[in-house]
Amino acid sequence: MRYNEQDLQILLIGDYALHFTELGIDTRLEKQLAHQGITQPTDIQAHAVPTAIAGHDIFAQSKTGSGKTLAFLLPAVQRVMKQKALSKRDPRVLIVAPTRELATQVYSQLRLLIAGTNISAVKVLGGENFNDQIKALRKDPHFIVGTPGRLADHLSQRSLQLSGLELLIFDEADRILDLGFTDQVKMINELADHRLRQTLLFSATLDHAQVDALSRNLLRSPKQILLSASNEQHSDITQQLYLADHLDHKEALLEHFVKQDNVGQCIIFTATRADTQRLSQLLNDKGFKAQALAGDLTQAKRLEIMDAFSRENFKILITTDVASRGLDLLSVTHVINFDLPKHAEEYVHRIGRTGRAGFKGTAISLVGPKDWPSYKAIKAFLNDELSFFTVDGLVGKFKGLREKKPNTVWKKAEKKVAAKPAKPKRKAAPKKPKAPIQAPIDVDGFAPMRRKKKPEQE
Ligand code: ADP
Ligand code: MG
Repeated sequence: MRYNEQDLQILLIGDYALHFTELGIDTRLEKQLAHQGITQPTDIQAHAVPTAIAGHDIFAQSKTGSGKTLAFLLPAVQRVMKQKALSKRDPRVLIVAPTRELATQVYSQLRLLIAGTNISAVKVLGGENFNDQIKALRKDPHFIVGTPGRLADHLSQRSLQLSGLELLIFDEADRILDLGFTDQVKMINELADHRLRQTLLFSATLDHAQVDALSRNLLRSPKQILLSASNEQHSDITQQLYLADHLDHKEALLEHFVKQDNVGQCIIFTATRADTQRLSQLLNDKGFKAQALAGDLTQAKRLEIMDAFSRENFKILITTDVASRGLDLLSVTHVINFDLPKHAEEYVHRIGRTGRAGFKGTAISLVGPKDWPSYKAIKAFLNDELSFFTVDGLVGKFKGLREKKPNTVWKKAEKKVAAKPAKPKRKAAPKKPKAPIQAPIDVDGFAPMRRKKKPEQE
């Protein structure tokens, strides 16, 4: 693999770049990294690796594609290599990821690091054979990488015990909570609750309230490593927005973008699973190699599609937010939001599937009337730094929606309450000539917001 090291945020001290060994990493591991073309730590790695090796709990936030996986894997492997285990039987390190695809990717990266050592690792995902997992767990692996639901199932059945766990890591911790796995996280936390446990939380977007509340239970005097705010612009990702009148218009724009010469691989995000199928059909009919990946496919099929995409066997992956987090595919040059995500954080993660490891990427978002509320939320989250572009021959009529009119019924009620004690009535103002009815125009000068349809959940 080739990395664009010049553009990566490599930590420099004067003119001198750090080496992994200077962070406390064993030369054997450093050699293993060199085989992968990784010679110098990124910023997050330079901060997190020594902090984790020193035994601190960590709450770490850095941009998409900045190398967070190695920032937690390296100190974990280092620990298992060098320190005596607390328990002979229980796993020493547990890594929890929100989706099967991400857990699989983290597991693969771990396998590369531990190749040629006697360290063992097992993957425990939903959708795979439970009994096979029990058998694998009985072999007392050092590492377990899994998704929260299935891990909790094994804990309930006692096929997994965590009383000797030394290191608990949550990758994309906020997404794990967003997906509703709070109870499973609490269960893991309680069953691995002893004084010596160390816990690490990583994401590009940890700074929201739900994470704060839970991290108070999970972490003990954590070191905060906040290298960028979750709403900070990613300098390697060019963001472009295009207004679209309706579905046909979006499809015409989509076709225009995917056939451009500079598109390597491309990920298209849609709001619903049904749309992944429909667009896949549509693009294949037009001669593009596209495949749909959605959460309702069998686990085997999901892995097969991701594997084929990572081998560049096809060009376009169409998916929902099931693939918005963590997936690292360096040949993805373009991300297209066919629909905008409901939550601004997911926008940050979706576009972060490109522009990774110092490479440049383009994120295109199609904004129709239904996307308008999401657009407003994302724009506010990113402090307004989003611009609209147009494609010659594909400019529509839609120019955005205006804000909702203030609720007049509520206004009246408020007036009544405020009327005590009675004040002298003001003289009615002289009637103005009737102007055409117009809701207040927002800063963009667009039309009023209309009720949005609830998007399907993943
Ligand atoms: P994040 O979790 O922050 O989104 P990843 O851990 O997935 O980022 O890493 C993004 C890409 O950068 C991966 O392809 C990874 O192999 C590569 N990478 C990680 N660390 C380094 C490094 N120190 N030097 C060069 N490339 C790196
Ligand atoms: Mg990651």
